[in-house]
Amino acid sequence: MAKAGEDTEFYKDAQFLIPIERGPFYAFEMIPAWYSTLCGVKIDGETRVLGADDQPIPGLYAGGLDSGEFFKDNYNHGFSGGCSGYSYFTGLFAADRATAYIKEG
Ligand SMILES: Cc1cc2nc3c(=O)[nH]c(=O)nc-3n(C[C@H](O)[C@H](O)[C@H](O)COP(=O)(O)OP(=O)(O)OC[C@H]3O[C@@H](n4cnc5c(N)ncnc54)[C@H](O)[C@@H]3O)c2cc1C
Repeated sequence: MAKAGEDTEFYKDAQFLIPIERGPFYAFEMIPAWYSTLCGVKIDGETRVLGADDQPIPGLYAGGLDSGEFFKDNYNHGFSGGCSGYSYFTGLFAADRATAYIKEG
């Protein structure tokens, strides 16, 4: 597939397809894992979930990694606690906003 220039199994971008032709070859098992959800639902600054029209859906709030839009492009390892901190804050804030929404009727 690398030689042909098209990955029909994993759909890797053709520019990264490099034929491996010369040994010796070594193999190891890899178990991919990730720290967090990337690309959760989209929220605004009030933790309101936005619909496809980018407008808030009344009464629906999200925080933490369910609102993983924050890390959609990048996970910054140089910013300690950035993911947990974001999750603590937006989780609490979203719960607070949802409580206020219910109380307001
Ligand atoms: C190995 C590892 C290392 C990490 N290291 C760092 C770090 O150094 N610094 C950093 O900032 N962040 C780190 N993170 C990321 C950090 O852990 C997350 O950002 C944070 O925990 C996300 O919080 P959350 O509340 O959104 O989700 P979670 O912590 O995943 O909480 C979701 C909760 O919902 C519960 N749940 C799921 N489904 C249901 C259901 N149907 N009903 C009821 N409950 C449900 C789950 O059991 C869980 O308790 C790390 C993550 C991993 C996995």
